[in-house]
Amino acid sequence: MEMSKGKVWLVGAGPGEIGLLTQKAITVIEQADFIAYDALIGEEILCMLPEDAEKVSVGKRSGRYSVSQEKTNQILLEEALKGKKVVRLKGGDPFVFGRGGEELELLVQYGIPFEVVPGVTSAVAVPAYAGIPVTHRDFTSSFHVITGHPRKDGKDRIDYDALVRMDATLVFLMGVGSMGMIMENLMKAGMDPKMPAAVLERGTQYRQRKVISTVDCLERDSKDAKIQAPAVIVVGRVCTLSELFAWYEKRELAQMQIIVTRSRKKASKLTAQLRESGAEVLELPMIDTTAIALEQIRLDELFDEPAGRELWLTFTSPVGVETFFSVTLPSLGKDIRSVLRKGADVRFAAVGEATAKELEKYGWMTDVVPEVYNGRELGKALVRTARKDAKVYLLHARQGSEELKEELKRADLAYEDIAIYETICRQDSPWADMVKDKINQGLIDWVTFTSASTVRGFVQTMDGMDFCKVPALCIGEQTAAEARKYHMKIEISDRATIASMVEKLKELHAKQEV
Ligand code: SAH
Repeated sequence: MEMSKGKVWLVGAGPGEIGLLTQKAITVIEQADFIAYDALIGEEILCMLPEDAEKVSVGKRSGRYSVSQEKTNQILLEEALKGKKVVRLKGGDPFVFGRGGEELELLVQYGIPFEVVPGVTSAVAVPAYAGIPVTHRDFTSSFHVITGHPRKDGKDRIDYDALVRMDATLVFLMGVGSMGMIMENLMKAGMDPKMPAAVLERGTQYRQRKVISTVDCLERDSKDAKIQAPAVIVVGRVCTLSELFAWYEKRELAQMQIIVTRSRKKASKLTAQLRESGAEVLELPMIDTTAIALEQIRLDELFDEPAGRELWLTFTSPVGVETFFSVTLPSLGKDIRSVLRKGADVRFAAVGEATAKELEKYGWMTDVVPEVYNGRELGKALVRTARKDAKVYLLHARQGSEELKEELKRADLAYEDIAIYETICRQDSPWADMVKDKINQGLIDWVTFTSASTVRGFVQTMDGMDFCKVPALCIGEQTAAEARKYHMKIEISDRATIASMVEKLKELHAKQEV
């Protein structure tokens, strides 16, 4: 009987920025069992690769091969033969100088099914991010993509005479090392030495850089600017548009790289807002939340409160609300009517705006939200608002806010402390070493912390690093207090909201630029 064969998807990941990944690429990646990825894959994308897929770097950078092409082909075949869904993730488009063809040959030979998912090629996208349209009716009617790294056996020798004759936009990939020779050859073939030319480094990724020059000076100017691979070289009059059409650098958080440490599920809002403003965001979830097993939750009293008693269902996070209404109550076979049954007077309290919004989703208006979003203020607000004989049900995380309980105790307000979910620190990010290196080199602008537990998770994951170097943006005083223990460089958002954190980052960025 034939072994069940897997399948291989040859997927283009685009030039770096996660937003340039196609919808199809995302779908395929999410379903992968095994992912073999290149050195050119953007860090934003690496950090979103599914946790349960096996991930192998077959990194290739000009000249340095960590895994040979033959070995890569072999790996794809072996994993597919095991019956796995294999994703071969390549920079840009897999068929544009990606040796994608070679990787398919062995699969064809063995009859392994495969699909190709085209990607956004750097040849077009990198110029676009530098304000250079590869064609423009006033300047050129065609563009050509050329390797700057021809084969040693001369099989793909470049016909410079033909290139110059076409009077087109020329885009060279893999050309940083041979830039001098390329420019020389163009001029020898009759190109005007003053023809505009550009070299575009790390396009679409944070700290992308461009050098705009002319064919005779590009190599010198590029060396002066210490341009390194990966970079795209563009030759042609369209390069003069680069100033006029520059847009990338103009966004409020352009050129920043920011780490988001909240749990993956909750990260999306912060991440989306930061990316919208131009930042590159690495999602490194440092915590997870899980509902606490029902046997450990004692809620019976809640359903048995006497008529007329004022009950405060109190939540200190959106996760708490979601867990209570989507997990805790349903798994007890109950809903809110069970609480109201005996005629209790039910009120809702939330620590902040996001928690109140979550309550709204379930159809409940919130009666109390403190001015300042933290546990102590919520406690004070409850004390001010609740009747003396009311009872507060704290439906929150294990090790929930002590300050909140202190306030209630001090005012002698009755409460039940009911942990319905748990926050677990994670210590297993596959990207921890990469991130440590980057922080040490000062390449991460901010690490955002949205709770003390994210700080604890980060510290455990990044064990052994010098935390003094961590630029920490904290959501509030309590989070900052945790970060201070490790002597991080701390800033605090004005309010304990995601929007306020984003505002703070914009402020800090604007200051940095002055
Ligand atoms: N298949 C890829 C190209 C692979 S060849 C694509 O379609 O984009 C590798 C070359 O691509 C690099 O040497 C560089 O010239 C270019 N390149 C890829 N990503 C880049 C980026 N983010 N910025 C600048 N150049 C890039």
